[in-house]
Amino acid sequence: MSLFSAVEMAPRDPILGLNEQFAADTNPNKVNLGVGVYYDDNGKLPLLECVKKAEADMMKAPSARGYLPIDGIAAYDNAVKALVFGADSEPVKSGRVATIQALGGTGGLKVGADFLKKLSPSAQVLISDPSWENHRALFTQAGFEVGTYAYYDAAKRGIDFDGMLAALQGAAAGTIVVLHACCHNPTGYDLTPAQWDQVVEVVKARQLTPFLDMAYQGFGYGIAEDGAVIGKFVAAGLTFFVSTSFSKSFSLYGERVGALSVLCENKEEAARVLSQLKIMIRTNYSNPPTHGGAVVAAVLGNPELRALWEKELGEMRVRIKAMRQKLVDGLKAAGVEQDMSFITSQIGMFSYSGLTKDQMVRLRNEFGVYGTDTGRMCVAALNSKNIDHVCASIAKV
Ligand code: PLP
Repeated sequence: MSLFSAVEMAPRDPILGLNEQFAADTNPNKVNLGVGVYYDDNGKLPLLECVKKAEADMMKAPSARGYLPIDGIAAYDNAVKALVFGADSEPVKSGRVATIQALGGTGGLKVGADFLKKLSPSAQVLISDPSWENHRALFTQAGFEVGTYAYYDAAKRGIDFDGMLAALQGAAAGTIVVLHACCHNPTGYDLTPAQWDQVVEVVKARQLTPFLDMAYQGFGYGIAEDGAVIGKFVAAGLTFFVSTSFSKSFSLYGERVGALSVLCENKEEAARVLSQLKIMIRTNYSNPPTHGGAVVAAVLGNPELRALWEKELGEMRVRIKAMRQKLVDGLKAAGVEQDMSFITSQIGMFSYSGLTKDQMVRLRNEFGVYGTDTGRMCVAALNSKNIDHVCASIAKV
């Protein structure tokens, strides 16, 4: 008998399954809104100019690829700290942030989850209902029991904030709460600053452990604006986790550039935490890869390239917002009587369209418009060429 004879077939990743179906679709008008990727107005994955320039500079003086330190490139980690907390912020100046370069935002979450499992083995994890589907899988795989807090209110087309607060208020001390720092995936609905204040208050009063997932910094209202949520947790005197992803903001999906930052009480504590994070890394993948981290560090560390990045990120943000408006206008023009203006009050790359599973299946099968069965559509994949077809198709279902 084979060692593997009892191994069960795992379910397919829903998004990858959708991509396969999309690739096989012969409809010439097909549009993939299932992915979590930003495409430009030509439907192409952009290679940012700032990245191109940083890489050209690197190629002028090519370097050998030695091992990086376990926690990654020091200049990269420092740039992440400055971006997340503010270069002149108290946490950065006092040295009480432990940051490691991670394999994308996912890697940051995973290193944090593994560390937390050793630190608080019996803690429960709460994620938003709904959440990025990998949150549940990742924390479950790290050994945690994962529950949810209320988030999306379909009838209201917004956030069930009372439900969310009630869930947090009812959580046991030490519960790990995964929060989307900005651009909630999949719904596109973010808390208001005043609501964040209330969440911070409950998290503090109930002694919960916040884990902020910041996968879209700069896609909401701006780099500093989106980072302001972090400042609220700092101001409340909390210690917490932040995962960072540069996949979207640098369009460097395949380079796997991200980070984990842990805000500690003081510098000495941060040194101890960092030493433990390094064990998680060393025993898992030893140390991070060089290229993506070097590119991001070069861009963030050079005033000219940094300004170019901010400009390019701003253009992506503005284009997504313009597409949201075009979608609302286009649906109206295509004869949709329902008020769809909620799409412009959502933020980030995604929209919970409110369409049912049946409607999403019809969109796919009859019109070649692909979104997830939950009704999530990636508005960052809309462009001036596909928007009319998308609007007409939605109007028909
Ligand atoms: N967190 C959220 C909420 C995301 O949407 C994503 C990517 O889709 C990630 C984390 C992971 O990002 P990365 O591709 O950098 O691992």
